Amino acid sequence: MPVRLEAPLRPRPVDEVGSASLDPAAVVLAFASIPLAGTPDATAQACVDAIRLLTHGPARLLVPTRPVPLSVGDAADGLVSVLRFHAAGGEGEMLASPEAAKIAPRLLALMAQQLARVWAVQQQRAEQTLELDQLRFHLGALQQVARTLAVVRGADETVRLVLDSVGEVFFAWWAALYHTDGEQYTCRAVRSLRGESVAFAIPARVVNAITGPGRPPIVPPEDAEIRDHVPAEVAVVAPLDFGDGGAGLLILGRRMTEAPYEAHDLALLRALADSSAIALRNAELLDRLRAQATIDPLTGCHNRRGFDEILEREMARAQRYGRPLSLVLLDIDRFKSINDDFGHEVGDHALQRIGRAVRHSFRSSDSACRYGGEEFALIFPETGRDEGSRLAEKMRVVVEQLPPNAEVPRTLTASFGVASFPDDAATIPDLIRAADRALYQAKTRGRNRVETA
Ligand code: GH3
Ligand code: MG
Ligand code: MG
Repeated sequence: MPVRLEAPLRPRPVDEVGSASLDPAAVVLAFASIPLAGTPDATAQACVDAIRLLTHGPARLLVPTRPVPLSVGDAADGLVSVLRFHAAGGEGEMLASPEAAKIAPRLLALMAQQLARVWAVQQQRAEQTLELDQLRFHLGALQQVARTLAVVRGADETVRLVLDSVGEVFFAWWAALYHTDGEQYTCRAVRSLRGESVAFAIPARVVNAITGPGRPPIVPPEDAEIRDHVPAEVAVVAPLDFGDGGAGLLILGRRMTEAPYEAHDLALLRALADSSAIALRNAELLDRLRAQATIDPLTGCHNRRGFDEILEREMARAQRYGRPLSLVLLDIDRFKSINDDFGHEVGDHALQRIGRAVRHSFRSSDSACRYGGEEFALIFPETGRDEGSRLAEKMRVVVEQLPPNAEVPRTLTASFGVASFPDDAATIPDLIRAADRALYQAKTRGRNRVETA
């Protein structure tokens, strides 16, 4: 609430203006009661009130505030400029009646001085408010990113979350994560609002020359080294330190607001890049652990746990969308004799060979699993019984035609049992039982053959 002055300044007739009755004490007193902590609008209004009181007439105040200049008080018609004062961004101006212009110059100078003091405080306050707003925004962004990244997720999801959060915090048109093979840095993932593709590569030696642990983000136009290697759309490059010598880059495009990345933005980006690097490293570790937990180390196929997970997932999908799914069980023929004749090491090599063959023979949506000792299970989503049998037959020929070599000095054969959803079974246990029965038939009917449930 602007404070209005009453005493000790009684309203006086206009002809007293400029007379000795207006003294410096009255000027100082009138300005002393202007609330300095008010909003710019309230402060401007209080200044106008003070001038009205001192001049007993209309007044209008103009201040070059940013982004919008202030203009407060009585209509400018018929008013004249009575004084100018120093204000941030230029000069402020007081308009008042022509009579007020006749006030003694030393008193007008005193008023100008008072106005300059008030607006200097306002300017300081505006700067502090801006800084506080920035800090509040930074804190909010850090809290949000910390919450997002506190849960350890897989690498792909973490990369997406990092690019989403950083892109949003800085209103960047695009954000990209770069990784390195030691020779150069290339794009691993990009999040782009306008569909830009980010395809440039940066030589590792260039990055190594300008980055290092704790180094601030780089704004390319200011850095001649990197400027030659990145397109003009690159606004800022932040190094990521994954520890253990691992490194990456977080690269941001220009901002939707067209605002440059200022020092406080770069400080925030540094903090976000550090927490992103930790989250990305944890995500890689999680993926590695997950893979170890579901991959059979001897054959590189999914292990029994992986098999259970994949079949569960694919069966649920098949049931939900009413799509077919085939399961093929593969059992190596007379495998015991390989162990007996050549030793366990050769037996292991034979398992490795067959594991490699089954992993590389099918589509990426198909899954090869080591189901038991020398039994493999192949899961074919979107595949009916006839196609499943055809794929099993193809695999049978592949195994049969593996040429003997130094590691496995004998040809191998395998028997196959095929069962399909929904033709042969409606549930996972029934599907496995049906495929197992078919496999048993293949064994009893002479081995090296495919039987269907
Ligand atoms: P068939 O299936 O044709 O009836 O005969 P088979 O000799 O393959 O029969 P069986 O299933 O009884 O034998 C499986 C053998 O596989 C027994 C086991 O010693 C061997 N085996 C299972 N796992 C491994 C392994 O990891 N390494 C090696 N070297 N041998 C294994
Ligand atoms: Mg067996
Ligand atoms: Mg066998």
